[in-house]
Amino acid sequence: MEKILLSHGSGGTMMHKLIDSLFMRELGNPTLIEKKDSAIVEIGGKKIAFTTDSYVVNPIFFPGGDIGSLAVYGTVNDLAVCGAKPLFISLGLIIEEGFDRDLLEKIVKSISSAAKRARVDVVTGDTKVVERGSCDKIFINTSGIGAIYYPGLSIENIKPRDSVILSGTIGEHAISVLSKREGISFSTIVRSDSAPLNALIAKVLSVSKGVRFMRDPTRGGAATTLNEMVTGGRFGISIEEEDLPVTEGVRASCELLGFDPLYLANEGRVIIVAKRDDEKRILRAMRSDPLGRSSRVIGTVTKEYPGKVYMNTSSGGRRIVGMLSSEQLPRIC
Ligand code: MG
Repeated sequence: MEKILLSHGSGGTMMHKLIDSLFMRELGNPTLIEKKDSAIVEIGGKKIAFTTDSYVVNPIFFPGGDIGSLAVYGTVNDLAVCGAKPLFISLGLIIEEGFDRDLLEKIVKSISSAAKRARVDVVTGDTKVVERGSCDKIFINTSGIGAIYYPGLSIENIKPRDSVILSGTIGEHAISVLSKREGISFSTIVRSDSAPLNALIAKVLSVSKGVRFMRDPTRGGAATTLNEMVTGGRFGISIEEEDLPVTEGVRASCELLGFDPLYLANEGRVIIVAKRDDEKRILRAMRSDPLGRSSRVIGTVTKEYPGKVYMNTSSGGRRIVGMLSSEQLPRIC
């Protein structure tokens, strides 16, 4: 009998296979099949973005964030990358019997300040408590609704010569969670990049009509997100290794642990594909925001290698960058 494995929740190829072979087969409809970060639905003639996500991160507190703020920002970001203004979120809590009330209060306070920062309201919720051992401390589900103000963002719109822009350094979230979980101390403490992207994205969308598609590179990292953009398409994406922004702290941790920052989860970064003519004004808008200071162009959409992501390496070579194929780090978000 086939069993569900950790890698089925990794965000990589195993998860995509499970989605296609089971969820799409049984539940597929024209909205679900689009596999966007948020579903785009129409209610009373208005376009609405609707999304949901569960948070099981271990540990629940880590440098730069905690499960509460992560649950707000993750859902806010999935709305924002679809061209929506995040408005309302739900909060579903599954708590293990015996969990400290003080810790719960700390998490709820964090949710409250995260919601204020992201300018969303928690408008409905649910609390369940399960027997000791039936879940690990606390799991959170958030759903979110936003109003679409920049319609039409789609992978279908991406064209050769488009620019691929990344809003900041990669890998901090994963390294922050991992180092706390494993009790590894690096010379520099790596803090999670967990943050709400809606303000940064609104700035970009106000200066350019040429944004084709956006996605936040969470589980599976930037490599997986870029692959999701090209899979089955008539174009490829080339990235320049030299242009990949990685902090010294993340680089050192990756060397020590054998990780590739391209596959590490981020929780406050966005990859934007846009018309090349708009590249400069988009970068200017992004860099004017504290969350986009180190934004840069990391690659180009090309006619070469359709369906593939490839990297021009610092040493002058070229290699294909695949999707995350197995589990790299479970319970990272
Ligand atoms: Mg997403």
